[in-house]
Amino acid sequence: MTLYGGIEAGGTKFICAVGTGPNDLRAVARFPTTTPAETIGQAIAFFQQQPEPVAAIGIGSFGPVDPDPSSADYGTITSTPKPGWQNVRLREQIQAALRVPVGFDTDVNAAALGEHRWGAARGLDTFIYLTVGTGIGGGGMVGGRLMHGLIHPEMGHIRVPHDWQADPFAGTCPYHGDCLEGLASGPAVERRWGVPGDQMPPDHPGWQLQAHYMAHGLATFVCTLSPQRIILGGGVMQQEQLLPMLRKAVQTLLNGYVQSPAILEQIDQYIVPPALGGNSGVLGAIALAEREARRTKRPAR
Ligand code: ADP
Ligand code: ZN
Repeated sequence: MTLYGGIEAGGTKFICAVGTGPNDLRAVARFPTTTPAETIGQAIAFFQQQPEPVAAIGIGSFGPVDPDPSSADYGTITSTPKPGWQNVRLREQIQAALRVPVGFDTDVNAAALGEHRWGAARGLDTFIYLTVGTGIGGGGMVGGRLMHGLIHPEMGHIRVPHDWQADPFAGTCPYHGDCLEGLASGPAVERRWGVPGDQMPPDHPGWQLQAHYMAHGLATFVCTLSPQRIILGGGVMQQEQLLPMLRKAVQTLLNGYVQSPAILEQIDQYIVPPALGGNSGVLGAIALAEREARRTKRPAR
């Protein structure tokens, strides 16, 4: 059986895995994201130590990145605020060391692909995967193709109504202050309330505010992309009370206008957690590898 490698390259940690799918992960390693030399070196060493070679590797990376295969900077992390990681040619370094085809996309597009291949987006052609963690980021497919366009979507940086009287918190985004990520990422929750989200009780008023901001974001995505499903991952979504609050708030905001039973009647199956749990990202990277192997096997035109 052909084995593939996946790298979920996060700003906090890297997860590397070898396998063929959710029920067949042969090896998994996690390590903190430190310097590019150390962290990329650890990823390379992980694959070199495997008993069997992989046919291709996929990388789902934190960003912003250049995900355009025809660009000279394809697979590069570009303008990230993470110290030391600007202009790191991640895909090129992995490819040069391991000498296999390497597929590359954003972390959220990779997670979306994983959910499409094996999880909550099977059979759909237009959907989004949003992570609410250290940042807020969104990816997904439109018409069966992963979203790229100009560069790649930046769904976390949309503006949402901010009532300064009800919520005087200025937001954490270094570029926009009170964009969606600035108001509703994990670090925003922690800075606003003075405690990390995982220590806030489920009935803390902060969660109602969180659902309010996120619902504005989701309603915007419903109206602009017409997704057939919205998958919500990331650390903050471990607050299980958020999902029902969010579903209700999205219905209230849309106010019956988007005439689909998915929203009007079956919203529990419309706004959902990832079916692959915390593994969407690394499995998505394996799905990217699978694609890349198929693509490079095709005869040149
Ligand atoms: P990353 O975005 O770096 O990949 P996560 O998705 O785990 O990682 O997001 C980390 C953020 O999520 C942190 O800001 C953390 O405070 C927050 N977080 C993690 N677990 C929880 C939880 N159970 N409840 C609320 N917030 C959480
Ligand atoms: Zn922003």
